[in-house]
Amino acid sequence: MDHWTDSFFLLLPYLLAATTVTAAYLALQRRREKAALAELAQSEALGLNEPPSLHPVIDPHRCIGSAGCVPACPEGALGIVQGKAVLINAAACIGHGACKPACPVDAIRLVFGTEKRGVDIPELSPQFETNVPGLFIAGELGGMGLIRKAVEQGRQAMEVIRKRKGPAGAGDELDVLIVGAGPAGLSAGLAAMQHKMRYRLIEQEDSLGGAVYHYPRNKIAMTAPVVLPLIGKVKMGEIQKEKLLEFWNGVVAKTGLQIAYQERMDGLAADGEGFVVTTNRGTLRARSVLLAIGRRGTPRKLDVPGEASAKVVYKLVDAEQYRGQHMLVVGGGDSALEAALALAEQPGTTVTLSYRSEAFSRVKQKNRDRVQSAAADGTLRLALSSSVKRIDADTVTLKTAQGEERLPNDAVVVCAGGVLPTPLLQAAGVRFATKHGTA
Ligand SMILES: Cc1cc2nc3c(=O)[nH]c(=O)nc-3n(C[C@H](O)[C@H](O)[C@H](O)COP(=O)(O)OP(=O)(O)OC[C@H]3O[C@@H](n4cnc5c(N)ncnc54)[C@H](O)[C@@H]3O)c2cc1C
Ligand code: SF4
Repeated sequence: MDHWTDSFFLLLPYLLAATTVTAAYLALQRRREKAALAELAQSEALGLNEPPSLHPVIDPHRCIGSAGCVPACPEGALGIVQGKAVLINAAACIGHGACKPACPVDAIRLVFGTEKRGVDIPELSPQFETNVPGLFIAGELGGMGLIRKAVEQGRQAMEVIRKRKGPAGAGDELDVLIVGAGPAGLSAGLAAMQHKMRYRLIEQEDSLGGAVYHYPRNKIAMTAPVVLPLIGKVKMGEIQKEKLLEFWNGVVAKTGLQIAYQERMDGLAADGEGFVVTTNRGTLRARSVLLAIGRRGTPRKLDVPGEASAKVVYKLVDAEQYRGQHMLVVGGGDSALEAALALAEQPGTTVTLSYRSEAFSRVKQKNRDRVQSAAADGTLRLALSSSVKRIDADTVTLKTAQGEERLPNDAVVVCAGGVLPTPLLQAAGVRFATKHGTA
């Protein structure tokens, strides 16, 4: 054997190993690309390919397909298609921007809105003040959707408000009214306590946490250490939703922060040096108002007789509590379908899912399939093309194509989406800019 043949046989195992690794890598890439294409096709078919808020736009001329952004996105919103990064599941993008720093060639820009769908962002000064003097905004409503940012902005905005506050208001006028007890409002409330301000913190729901309260069960939130007024630096990284809520409830118990739960701001108007805010409980006067209300809005109501009953809820928290009951779920989105399915799994519970259209359109295929098979095997009853006419103590009345139908009923879960705060704020004079794909 000559020298070349010797070398060839010596290198052969390495060549084989390298070929096997390359073939396995390419096969994996192909499988991933196939999965990404399927996800993209599904979100386009379901009309779920419009990102709700801040989201990445990838420059295809710069992108080298390194895929660094794909695992960096904790929501699984990105994939590689034809060698380039693509937002394959736009509806899942929550805009925390973890993808941007993960790109080695800086091919990602974070923008609001798309050509088709504009996103309204209030115009704010660097001090978080709107164009209405004394009216401030912190957190996601201002455009930046992150727990850490919301906490920081709540604290910083309160610093500004404290310095601006001027002489104490007369009578029952508050120094500041904080609306919303999500991350921004909680941090602002603690800052108001720290600065011994006359504050009131109102929250429309029965729990603190804001968007976090609505995360799916056991969801891991990705965040970073934050400085909380009265508490100091809190080391946070990846934390389960339930643990995060437990932590905040502990902070409230420890500090004595007062939160007026189930109090919803319904209107806001400037009045002299301050503001008059109407809520479902009455009227409040405040020198300054800090809106920390996020972008989810207020649950959409059905506006039917009997809706004020305590048996009507706008979010399913614990399906088990409805064991053995007659339930009506109203809505045609993923949250309605998921609520109906969770209830239908409870022993002895009967579930009717009422939706005004004749088919579910913008929902995940998995939910649609599960609802259809539950309807086929009689685990839940579908009332498509129906609407709620009235709610009584032990019954609900549905209006259907065949006429009216009265069903036995113990509780109603309404999942009909949210009413965005934009019109309410515009009525108060707040200026918004509509973004169509700009930062
Ligand atoms: C599914 C999902 C996953 C996410 N994952 C992460 C993550 O891993 N890491 C991360 O950093 N961020 C994550 N985010 C984003 C993060 O949760 C939000 O950016 C953050 O909660 C914004 O805080 P906020 O206080 O501005 O608003 P919100 O959390 O939305 O809180 C606003 C509060 O105001 C209340 N409110 C609204 N209107 C009124 C009214 N009229 N009257 C009284 N109260 C009112 C609401 O009920 C709510 O409690 C995620 C978001 C979603 C939807
Ligand atoms: S902004 Fe966040 S959720 Fe959206 S694609 Fe980037 S990492 Fe994923």
